[in-house]
Amino acid sequence: MIEQDLLRRFLFEELGVRGEWVKLTHSWQAAKFHQRGSENVQQQLGQALAAVVMLSATVKFTGSMILQAQGDGDIKTLVAQATDQRKIRGLVRGKENVAEGSLETMFGQGRLVLTIESENGQPYQGIVPLRGSNLAAVVQTYFEQSEQLKTRLWLFANATHAVGLLLQELPTQENHEADWEHIEILANTVTEQELFDLDCEQLLYRLFNEEKVRLFDPEPVEFSCACSRPNIEKTLFAMGRTELEDILKEQDIIEVNCEFCSEQYRFDKIDVENILSQQSHVNTSETRH
Ligand SMILES: [Zn+2]
Repeated sequence: MIEQDLLRRFLFEELGVRGEWVKLTHSWQAAKFHQRGSENVQQQLGQALAAVVMLSATVKFTGSMILQAQGDGDIKTLVAQATDQRKIRGLVRGKENVAEGSLETMFGQGRLVLTIESENGQPYQGIVPLRGSNLAAVVQTYFEQSEQLKTRLWLFANATHAVGLLLQELPTQENHEADWEHIEILANTVTEQELFDLDCEQLLYRLFNEEKVRLFDPEPVEFSCACSRPNIEKTLFAMGRTELEDILKEQDIIEVNCEFCSEQYRFDKIDVENILSQQSHVNTSETRH
């Protein structure tokens, strides 16, 4: 049975190291379907989606984790999002054709922002410069700087799959530094082809067959967009009456397209009037309490 659209967490039972493996197939193809850009641009998005799914499983939260890369080069913005329910979506904006090369070649000067939008906690944000050979290197830097945790990532994407492997030290364990070095040496032999072709168990066996590895139950990952008419209405309301009326002078309908899933939302004059009046009722009742 071929594993796909799954996240798997694992633990080296006798060592201070944990890990994650992810393979996105249908979810990756569905996310990619709504995005433009040359193959290397799409590969960046696939790598970011594989990364954000794994990162979302390294912390406990309810809500959504957003990995955003912004630059002044050919790729301007790349967003990869995963919820605690392993629902993913992503977008990329920039030139259609982008030169191959390092992150600087593609993104110019930029930064990677990792945000957790939690339903009940404080929002969290971490930022690192977008420097290095690939996104995996940037995420490693992020963990070393922000969390002081040794972390290694391998991220690859092609037309059909986006895959990833993550290893992270568990500093509470004795001898974790020696354990970490040992596992890192073994893991360094992993190839892109192995990550694309093998199931999680096969891969772990190939890399670490002398270690005791506890593999947790697979967690399904799917493409799902959280956009909704009420959310778009909130955004329109925030734009204000003057701006909305100006748009409606030029055209009969305000059209909003979701950049993650291409869903189209249409609002005519009556809809807009309803939004402006309803939302103001909500706001007045809120201020009264
Ligand atoms: Zn959407």
